[in-house]
Amino acid sequence: MSARWPDAPAAREIVALTACQQAPPIARDTDGVLYLVHLVRVAANGGTPGPFLCGVDRFGPDATSWSIGGGVSGPAVRQGPCPGCVTRWRRDYPGITEVRGSVGAAELMAARG
Ligand SMILES: [Zn+2]
Repeated sequence: MSARWPDAPAAREIVALTACQQAPPIARDTDGVLYLVHLVRVAANGGTPGPFLCGVDRFGPDATSWSIGGGVSGPAVRQGPCPGCVTRWRRDYPGITEVRGSVGAAELMAARG
């Protein structure tokens, strides 16, 4: 802890959550294409450490590609909030009420309620 900046968060402290769209799409139907959107922790140093909040290891050998904060969007694309991530968000990060990211963040916030 720095005496010079006593209010500075520790570098590994989690200060925010960000949407993370996982590819490929999980469904294609008449409503369009559905992508699953998870939550990822944002540390005070700007890094996004660890697995998705639901526990899926996004760096594992069987992991699919993903996009932090962005991803595929458009009129025929839907974002599907991961229920496991939303459950962990409510339980472990109740003080964080907004999600970063331009793709899927609004859908995650709506799912949280
Ligand atoms: Zn998830």
